[in-house]
Amino acid sequence: MDEKLDAIFTDVIRRNPGEDEFHQAVREVLESIGPALTRHPEYAEAKIIERICEPERQLIFRVPWEDDRGEVQVNRGFRVEFNSALGPYKGGLRFHPSVYLGIVKFLGFEQIFKNALTGMPIGGGKGGSDFDPKGRSDREVMRFCQSFMTELYRHIGEYTDVPAGDIGVGAREIGYLFGQYKRITNRYESGVLTGKGLIYGGAQVRREATGYGAVFFAEEMLRARGEGLDGKRVVVSGSGNVAIYAIEKVHQLGGTVVACSDSSGYVVDEKGIDVELLKQIKEVRRARLSEYPQSRPHSSFVAGRPVWEVPCQIAIPSATQNEITGADAASLVAGGCLAVVEGANMPTTPEAVRAFAEAGVGFAPGKAANAGGVAASALEMQQNASRDSWSFAHSEQRLREIMRDIHDRCYATADEYGMPGDYVAGANIDGFRRVAEAMLAHGLI
Ligand code: GLU
Repeated sequence: MDEKLDAIFTDVIRRNPGEDEFHQAVREVLESIGPALTRHPEYAEAKIIERICEPERQLIFRVPWEDDRGEVQVNRGFRVEFNSALGPYKGGLRFHPSVYLGIVKFLGFEQIFKNALTGMPIGGGKGGSDFDPKGRSDREVMRFCQSFMTELYRHIGEYTDVPAGDIGVGAREIGYLFGQYKRITNRYESGVLTGKGLIYGGAQVRREATGYGAVFFAEEMLRARGEGLDGKRVVVSGSGNVAIYAIEKVHQLGGTVVACSDSSGYVVDEKGIDVELLKQIKEVRRARLSEYPQSRPHSSFVAGRPVWEVPCQIAIPSATQNEITGADAASLVAGGCLAVVEGANMPTTPEAVRAFAEAGVGFAPGKAANAGGVAASALEMQQNASRDSWSFAHSEQRLREIMRDIHDRCYATADEYGMPGDYVAGANIDGFRRVAEAMLAHGLI
């Protein structure tokens, strides 16, 4: 980072104290975009970076609700409307006890560039709550979602801000949120939320899109190195929505996922993770991964250890932020890892990113590799706006093309700036340029 960028970064830290994840996400972008600023002095003149680092609007609100014992609970809700240069704010809601403003801002900041990279007309935003859906009954989750939307509804809309899911928010939560929005506003505004059920305005492939998209990105990356996914040994962390569909697609494309994890440990299944069983445990029963070996006796569950100790050629971290430490990166490198493709948002710590670069391991940042989810959301908005619905095959084809375009754009931009194969630089510079150009066009607002 040069002196000017360093001063901007120091100011970001000063204005946003204690928000470590947000600082980390900003630093990573600022470290990449120096060469683009040298070519475009007009960005600095218009203070584009300072403006991008400051959210357009930040909402924090109380979410009171009653649990099944009749006790009143109070949670905190967030929505950060970060940047609307390219379209309505777009990004998921995360319900997890770790959620605070710094997490929402890191995710919202990443979302600006990710959404720009998709080439679709969507700005960046993110939201959520410190509510923990784990162990809560359906009725409790419904009451929480209704209360959350009773405040959020006034800030969102098809042309304003379009939330979706993220960790802890899936089809069930989106259904309750949509129902409450519809009731309060008396509008059947399908495009106000994405990730909806297929029966009421949802789109084919949205559920699968983040995981499938990450694997399509991995395929492109391997192709650029003269390789393919066929026959590759893969480890996927997590066992949620991203992980499940990443595993499914790896298997369809001829690779084998030998391990996946949840917060309590990991499963190794040398015959390949059984996706249907995983869906049964995680999506239907909402149970723990440690139950997996009961149905697959040749597999084993390892409690409390990082999944990255399982040797693999491709790693797809799909759990949460900062899950690959420097030590995990060393295990992956020692195990012969060729490429790391981020299915989650910022799962790789800066030390691990450096270790991969030093070892020549290909690295695809989440804002490029996991953009398939939000890209499919933009396709859902498109279908809602035209009151249409596309087939699975057509939707998957569109997703595949979008992922190929994102890959090629990152690759070409890295080349253009003399950093061949550097997907971090390619993604950050290309995403940043798109947002900067739109902001310049709109004047000082
Ligand atoms: N939460 C997802 C992401 O991190 C999807 C957001 C969306 O579909 O709006 O990109």
